[in-house]
This record gives sequence, structure tokens and C-alpha cells, in this order.
Amino acid sequence: MTPIAKNWKLIDAKRVHNSITERMIMDAMQRQRCTLDNPGICLTCGNEQDGCEPDARNYTCEACGDNEVYGAEELFTCGWYHAK
Ligand SMILES: [Zn+2]
Repeated sequence: MTPIAKNWKLIDAKRVHNSITERMIMDAMQRQRCTLDNPGICLTCGNEQDGCEPDARNYTCEACGDNEVYGAEELFTCGWYHAK
């Protein structure tokens, strides 16, 4: 059987896209606090989109259509990012 290429890893039973790193979350949280940006991040594809409250959950992703967009602080609180 051919292994299916994975662009995500499981973290606490959640599929987290490989592009979502601690640095990315920190940067998004800083912008949320210090600017008018409201970045949310999609766990499925790693797309960042605006208009998400810090505690947003299960918003619809504009890029892939999954309901896996979370606010930056929510991701940080849940630990859904790759530490590297
Ligand atoms: Zn997506």
C-alpha cells in the first residue's frame, strides 16, 4: 500500500497543518493585540484569514472550505501548533 502524503500531524487528536508553527501563532496573537487585525488560522490547510475573534472556533475556511478556522489565542490555548 502506498503511503498517503501527509501535510499535517495529529496534536491531541486534532489534525494540525504542518505550516502552523509556534512562531506563526505568536505573530498572529501579537497582531491581534496590537493592531486591528483579527487573524484566524485553518487547521486543515494553514490558511490565515481575517475577521476571526481571538476565541473563534470552527469558522469556515475561505481557502479549503473546512470548518476548521480558529482564532490565534484559541489555537495557542489548545496547543494546536507545531513547536519548531
Ligand atoms: Zn483551510
